[in-house]
Amino acid sequence: MTTKKFLLQEADIPTRWYNIAADMINKPRPLLNPATKEPIAASDLYPLFARALADQEMNQTDAWIDIPEEVRDMYKVWRPTPLVRAYGLEKALDTTARIYFKNESVSPVGSHKLNSALAQAYFCKQEGVTNITTETGAGQWGAALSYAAKAFGLELAVYMVKVSYHQKPYRRSIMQTFGAQVIASPSMSTKSGRAILTDNPNYQGSLGTAISEAVELAMQTPNCKYTLGSVLNHVMLHQTVIGLEAEKQMEMAGDYPDIIIGCFGGGSNFSGIAFPFLRHKLKEGKDIRVIAAEPSSCPKLTRGEFQYDFGDEAGYTPLLPMFTLGHTFAPANIHAGGLRYHGAGAIVSQLRSDGLLEAVDIPQLETFDAATLFARAEGIIPAPESAHAIAAAISEALKAKEAGASPVILFNLSGHGLLDMAAYDQYLAGDLTNYELTDKDLNATLASLEKII
Ligand SMILES: *Cc1c(COP(=O)(O)O)cnc(C)c1O
Repeated sequence: MTTKKFLLQEADIPTRWYNIAADMINKPRPLLNPATKEPIAASDLYPLFARALADQEMNQTDAWIDIPEEVRDMYKVWRPTPLVRAYGLEKALDTTARIYFKNESVSPVGSHKLNSALAQAYFCKQEGVTNITTETGAGQWGAALSYAAKAFGLELAVYMVKVSYHQKPYRRSIMQTFGAQVIASPSMSTKSGRAILTDNPNYQGSLGTAISEAVELAMQTPNCKYTLGSVLNHVMLHQTVIGLEAEKQMEMAGDYPDIIIGCFGGGSNFSGIAFPFLRHKLKEGKDIRVIAAEPSSCPKLTRGEFQYDFGDEAGYTPLLPMFTLGHTFAPANIHAGGLRYHGAGAIVSQLRSDGLLEAVDIPQLETFDAATLFARAEGIIPAPESAHAIAAAISEALKAKEAGASPVILFNLSGHGLLDMAAYDQYLAGDLTNYELTDKDLNATLASLEKII
């Protein structure tokens, strides 16, 4: 019998995160103050973020950053996660490729997000913070942070995009079970929320709006910090435990990945699986392909512009260097697969601009076709987000078959889809369609960007 799962021991949980910025030749561009267009310093972020996190955000010199023992202890609840050889999927595709996936869906909240949530909650607690705020879309980040806040004794307020608050009540229940306060956004509790509701009382919310509300509350509450589940450099940093474990596990499997794939929202799970391997490319010239898989209806890396843009809709954040669709961009309502954020983080954007990674955009129906095929072959129902990575892996495996090649493909299964069955229902009922974002619609939001780069 061939080996299916590659399992590490607790002692193999990484003791340090990998900071790719230290090894990049072209460093990520700095965050800018929107008023002066001058680079901001870590200390400018201290009012909003825990100091340790702000320092990590700006760190371009230390390739390795120690994981505090308290955080590593919490990682032991579910880490190391399995690396799985996808024999079932290989068979279903009749491919010559060898396919592996890192299974981050085994975390207590069902996704990779807890890797950073625990780190962020810990550093806040260390610095005497008592309250934290955040936003959440489908609810995965909110769920992860709720658990992390409880683990380290913090009070948490989550602004949840209104449409998800009503359509996806179970992640809200999870957050409330862990003791978080959950507010549908836009809300009347902030100035930015009130302004949006005054203009458009039926607005169903967006991540950008929810970020504005969470930032505003953090700035106005004593001893309160804001946290973010993706996009920022320190979040990518925390997620590198995924790739660092996978590195050891691929060794156990006696293979090395030719192609590494992650789905792409703001970039955290993609960076987590990819950066430790990209290090081999940067430092040893290893010949690997790294592919970010995003939805056709939110295609920042494939069709966006590399430009400075706000991280949120109201324009409260510093200007971030990102491949972006414009901070006022919102994907079409028909889009059910998550990954709805308008931009990519600074590090990934620089790597993309330097040709160190590729991106593909996947139409909605192909995503759910891939999800269904994977579920039947491997017995795991993937998060619709993760299904973008699966679709890209399938596409590479089929290409390999055509070419008579046998590459090793590694993708990250960022989460399971057991709380996303409403989206599967829509797919199974034939209610989902592909959506082609037109250049005209795209240009409308891109036009609002100030040309700084
Ligand atoms: C949040 C989330 C994503 C997208 O966010 P990234 O920061 O791009 O990883 C992908 N998959 C799952 C399961 C998520 O919860």
